[in-house]
Amino acid sequence: MTVLVLGGAGYIGSHAVDQLIDQQYDVAVVDNLQTGHQGAVHKKARFYQGDIRDKIFMESIFEKESIEGVMHFAANSLVGESMQQPLQYFNNNVYGTQVTLEVMQKFAVKSIVFSSSAATYGEPKEVPIKETADTNPESPYGETKLMMEKILKWCDKAYDMKFVALRYFNVAGAKLDGSIGEDHSPESHLVPLILQTALGQRNELTIFGDDYATPDGTCIRDYVHVVDLVEAHILALEYLKAGNQSTVFNLGSSTGFSVKQMLDTAREVTGREIPATVTARRAGDPSTLIASSEKAKTILNWKPQYTDIKDIIASAWNWHKNSPHGYTDTHN
Ligand code: UDP
Repeated sequence: MTVLVLGGAGYIGSHAVDQLIDQQYDVAVVDNLQTGHQGAVHKKARFYQGDIRDKIFMESIFEKESIEGVMHFAANSLVGESMQQPLQYFNNNVYGTQVTLEVMQKFAVKSIVFSSSAATYGEPKEVPIKETADTNPESPYGETKLMMEKILKWCDKAYDMKFVALRYFNVAGAKLDGSIGEDHSPESHLVPLILQTALGQRNELTIFGDDYATPDGTCIRDYVHVVDLVEAHILALEYLKAGNQSTVFNLGSSTGFSVKQMLDTAREVTGREIPATVTARRAGDPSTLIASSEKAKTILNWKPQYTDIKDIIASAWNWHKNSPHGYTDTHN
């Protein structure tokens, strides 16, 4: 079965390509390399550099490849940047998905696993957050993810195109052998920032606020290992292939850790001091985000294996230690 992975050179997409190939799927990758790294793409995947908004390019891929399912990771994903550049986010994310779906419809490809986000919920009224919670995104990024889910819903009704939208909480970690991992530029995510500080690449970690209504005052997030997260995508693909209905699942570990707890655990895992100072809150940060992932566990039979935060940080540390400058020093 050939799976087309859009955004397969990015952090999560490259882990998906790797695990798909490991599980004997045939994989084609499309990525414009705006934020991805060609060195992250498994050598057994056929790589096509191009933009999902380029319909002629996308049609040429669907002509060449016998695609049976699509995994869609190709999107801009920074909340802060989206507040500054909303039009870029609507263009790349929403229009890119529109073109993808038009081409899928033309070539009668009926299954898509879509990378969505907890940012679709906004500030939660109840924690843990269930899939039935209200969706009130507080950033253009979250809004694009919700809009794309809605487009998928109407494509299902009109064209019988089936989707699974996976709403990620905080994804972290790396492939256990340390060969691929998280490499963003600029980096804005907590775990890589902590580990870059551990490596001495940053002077200190900035903790965004310690006056939240949480036990230690810092924000609480639900961290899920990238390997477990990707496994849910493969289960979702099989779920669609089995003829099931379109739906939405949360993917998290159902446990929350504060910024300070993450920092202390990283100090323990790395054996390094990791200096940190507290500054003001970052705009738009909710105090606590924890997923209920019961639906994915029940319906997809998802069994996350790396739920201990130490394992998540240790796998990320293994990657950062071995590739301190990301992909540039280990790949072309
Ligand atoms: N955070 C922090 N310092 C940083 C980066 C992040 O204190 O330099 C906090 C942030 O406020 C949030 C948590 O770490 O509470 C996770 O942030 P991240 O950007 O990794 O993911 P988000 O939750 O925004 O998707």
